[in-house]
Amino acid sequence: MTDMLKFTSTEQHYPATAPAEERKHDFKEIYANFDPAAAALQASRCSQCGVPFCQIHCPLQNNIPDWLKLTAEGRLEEAYAMSSATNTFPEICGRICPQDRLCEGNCVIEKGFKSVTIGAVEKYITETAFAEGWVKPIKIKRESGVSIGIIGAGPAGLAAADMLRRYGHAVYVYDRYDRVGGLMMYGIPNFKLEKQIVLRRHELLKAGGIKFHLNHDVGNNFAALRARHDAILIATGVYKARDIEIPGAALGNIFPAMDYLTASNRKNLGDKITPISAEGKNVVVIGGGDTAMDCVRTAVRQGAKKVTCLYRRDRANMPGSAREVKNAEEEGVEFMWLSAPKAFAGGHSVEEILVQRMRLATQDAAGRQPVIAVEGEHFTLPCDMAIKALGFDAQDLPTLFTAPELRVSTYGTLAVDRKKFMTSLPGVFAAGDIVRGASLVVWAIKDGRDAAQAMHQYVTIKQRVAA
Ligand code: FAD
Ligand code: SF4
Ligand code: SF4
Repeated sequence: MTDMLKFTSTEQHYPATAPAEERKHDFKEIYANFDPAAAALQASRCSQCGVPFCQIHCPLQNNIPDWLKLTAEGRLEEAYAMSSATNTFPEICGRICPQDRLCEGNCVIEKGFKSVTIGAVEKYITETAFAEGWVKPIKIKRESGVSIGIIGAGPAGLAAADMLRRYGHAVYVYDRYDRVGGLMMYGIPNFKLEKQIVLRRHELLKAGGIKFHLNHDVGNNFAALRARHDAILIATGVYKARDIEIPGAALGNIFPAMDYLTASNRKNLGDKITPISAEGKNVVVIGGGDTAMDCVRTAVRQGAKKVTCLYRRDRANMPGSAREVKNAEEEGVEFMWLSAPKAFAGGHSVEEILVQRMRLATQDAAGRQPVIAVEGEHFTLPCDMAIKALGFDAQDLPTLFTAPELRVSTYGTLAVDRKKFMTSLPGVFAAGDIVRGASLVVWAIKDGRDAAQAMHQYVTIKQRVAA
């Protein structure tokens, strides 16, 4: 038995982080893994709360105190069995969950002693499990005879595929891209999540019998897919980039964030593509979310002369993770808060941005703090490459799929029965960003798992009725 509650005598330590001056020249993940002694010691800081707020605030309700205790005791195989029982991709969440807003931000010892390093321990447990050969492909006892089609191989689609295969169903995953992972592959850069981590999962899922149809864009063939399978899951994410409608927006060298990040990720994967390079440029990224943070840090690594982030609210109101903002600042990114673009100017390509100073108004009745322009206060910012990172909306799926009966919300996301995950089309389910709107990987995993359970119930009843 190991003593827990060591938070009073042992300081919080995260795994080593590559120094900013070194890491800004490459795309490698910036955090190292714990060594066994450090993982055990950090896990033993947990006070084993009777009501664990870390677990309550983890979207997957991971049994955090128990796997921390097992790690502190060196019982890593059991720790892995426990952590993987509720999370399909613990090594990915350990790396890219915004822990400061979720589990760690709600750890009770945070008040005065700094939280337990939950994400880093979760990554350590799972990486140890891979190294020791404890992570095995799915082995089913018998085929159920049910056929499931999943559109989208992002975290929601893959988490659902994994669970549905465990129930013994034949699972077919369709994706328009050439690799699985969705935004984990072509959105999130390597310095947060190296791509072989995602590809390793793809190999396991294939070995477990899941069939992948990549380079397969689903559009008006949706009805044919529906006819081919007993149930369908739509997990297509949200990709319609929000735009800026200001003078000069059509000038050259102004890119949507996903075009920029996809090109960079493809280049790092060794694909032959037309690169969008920030090398030697004055880059301005517009936006304050995780996508904007990924763009500024990618531009730094591509050798930009200067990287500036324009955000219309202030630091306290940024949607991006505080940890990522700190990393970007260490890497030399300049943040201009309360600043919004008013016009792009230049010849063929952008040369400068006219920037409007903003201020936060007093809260309205709904608790929102609107941003308003400060009259007469603007300035120009040199810029020879601008990246728009203003968020994403859902594509018009009813039109794309030629399925006008597919009901959508006022935001264009798919409307589902919250308990059954079923859309307005019988046997067609939906999960992830396409239901929730742009969110997080951990929520996509949670929704994919929940939708899989609902689909299993649906096909089981359908099978019994048919028998
Ligand atoms: P996606 O990951 O978008 O996957 C959808 C899949 O569906 C894609 O593979 C796509 O090709 C496929 N598809 C779409 N349409 C079709 C079609 N018609 N036919 C066939 N296939 C189709 N979250 C975090 O938790 N941490 C982070 O650090 C983080 N960083 C992010 C950085 C960026 C740049 C972005 C854009 C997002 C980030 N997120 C982060 C959010 C996170 O990536 C998403 O919430 C999550 O990936 C959503 O999962 P999903 O499975 O719903 O959709
Ligand atoms: Fe924390 Fe995310 Fe892991 Fe949950 S899945 S314990 S929120 S890192
Ligand atoms: Fe341990 Fe913190 Fe969770 Fe309490 S809230 S169980 S101290 S990790």
